[in-house]
Amino acid sequence: MDRVILIKYGELTTKKGNRKFFINTLYQNIQKKLKNMPVKISRDISRMYIHFRDEDLETILANINQIFGIHTYQVAYQVETDISKIQSTCLLALDGIHGSFKVETKRSEKSFPIPSTEFSRQLGGFLLKNRSDLTVDVHHPDTTLCVEILKEYTYVYSKVYYGLGGYPVGTQPRALLMLSGGIDSPVAGYLALKRGVRLDAVYFEALPHTSLEARNKVISLSKKLCQYTDHIRLHIVPFTKIQEEIYKKCDKDYGITIMRRMMYRIMQRLAKKYKALAIVNGESIGQVASQTLTSMQVINSVTNMPVIRPVACLDKLEIIELAKKIDTYDISILPYEDCCTIFVPKHPVIHPRLEECLKNEANFDYEKLIDEIVDQVITISITAEEKIENESFDSLL
Ligand code: ATP
Ligand code: MG
Repeated sequence: MDRVILIKYGELTTKKGNRKFFINTLYQNIQKKLKNMPVKISRDISRMYIHFRDEDLETILANINQIFGIHTYQVAYQVETDISKIQSTCLLALDGIHGSFKVETKRSEKSFPIPSTEFSRQLGGFLLKNRSDLTVDVHHPDTTLCVEILKEYTYVYSKVYYGLGGYPVGTQPRALLMLSGGIDSPVAGYLALKRGVRLDAVYFEALPHTSLEARNKVISLSKKLCQYTDHIRLHIVPFTKIQEEIYKKCDKDYGITIMRRMMYRIMQRLAKKYKALAIVNGESIGQVASQTLTSMQVINSVTNMPVIRPVACLDKLEIIELAKKIDTYDISILPYEDCCTIFVPKHPVIHPRLEECLKNEANFDYEKLIDEIVDQVITISITAEEKIENESFDSLL
C-alpha cells in the first residue's frame, strides 16, 4: 500500500497575496533538504506530498522537523478514491490500534457521492463489523481516523505531527546575525530563521587575545544553524585594533559600551555591503550592563537599521532550553574566550551617557580603523554536515 507524507502549511495560508511565493519557497527548501534522498515531491495550493521509500521514512521525518513553514504533517495511506478501496485502507490503518476510535471525513471533492458525515458513519460501521475489539467514541476517541477525499486519491491517517511552524526561510530578505560563541546568539539566529529571514553571520574576532578554537566554536554553531537553512555565510571581522585602541584611549568603565557602538557601526557597513536589511543579535534586556535599556538606547543610536533581538524578553533559562532544543548549548558552553570577555572592565557603566561616549570616541580615529577592518573581513561559506547517503532517484521517478 502506498504511503505519502502530507505537509500542511498552516500560518502561510493567511498570506493571501503571497501564498504562491511562500509555497514555492517551502517547496524549494524541502527539495534542497531532501536532495540526497530518492523522494518525489509535488504540491498544490493546500498541501505538499512526499512519496518515499519505506526505509527512508525516519530520516525524512527528522529532516522535515528542521524545516520552517510546516504547520503539521501526516504519514498517510494513499488510495484511489473508490469506496471499497477506502474501506480496506481504513482497516489497514487501524492495524495495531486498540481502544476507541472515530472517523473524520473531509470531502474536498464534492463529486464524491456520499456527504462527509454520512461517509464517516458508514465507514465506522464497516470497521466495527471487521474489528469487534474496537469501540466508537465520537467525543473523546483514543484514535481519530482521518479520511481526506480528493478527486483521484484519498488519504487515510490516524496521527498528526506538528512541524516547526514559522515561515519558510527565504520568504524575507537577508539580515546579519551577530554570532558570538555564547548561548544567546545562536538561539536568536534560530528564531530569526523561523520568521523566514535569510541570515549571514558576523563574528568579531580579537586574535591573538582570542583563540582559533573560539573561531571554530562559531563555525560549529553556524553549522548547527544550517540545519534550518541551506547555508550561512560567516563573516569574520578582525576586531583587535579597535579593541586595543578602546582599551588604551577610553575610560575603562565605558569600554564595553564603546566597543558595542563600534560593533554596530561595523554591522551597518557590512549590512550595506552584503545587502542585509536588519541586524539580529542575542541581547536580552537587563542580562548584563551593556543590555540595560539605557545601554541599548545609547549603543543603538549609532545606527538607524532595525536591530532585531529575538531573545530580548526571554529569561536565561528559557534561552538555555531553546539552545538545548536546537543542539547548540553543548557547543556554546565550551570554555574559549570571546572578544568581549577579554576586555571586560571591573565596573562597566550600567547607565551610560551619550555625551561621554562621544567624548571618548573622539580620542581615536575609529572611522579609519573601521574602513580598514571592513576591507579585511574574511568570509566562509558554511553548510550543514552531510549525513544523508547519496541515493539513486530512479526507483521513484
Ligand atoms: P551570547 O549572548 O550569545 O550568549 P555573550 O553572552 O558572550 O554571548 P553578550 O555579551 O551577551 O554575548 O553580547 C550580546 C550579543 O552581542 C550576543 O548575543 C551577540 O549577538 C553579540 N556579540 C557579542 N560578542 C560578539 C562577537 N564576538 N561577535 C559577534 N557578535 C557578538
Ligand atoms: Mg548574552
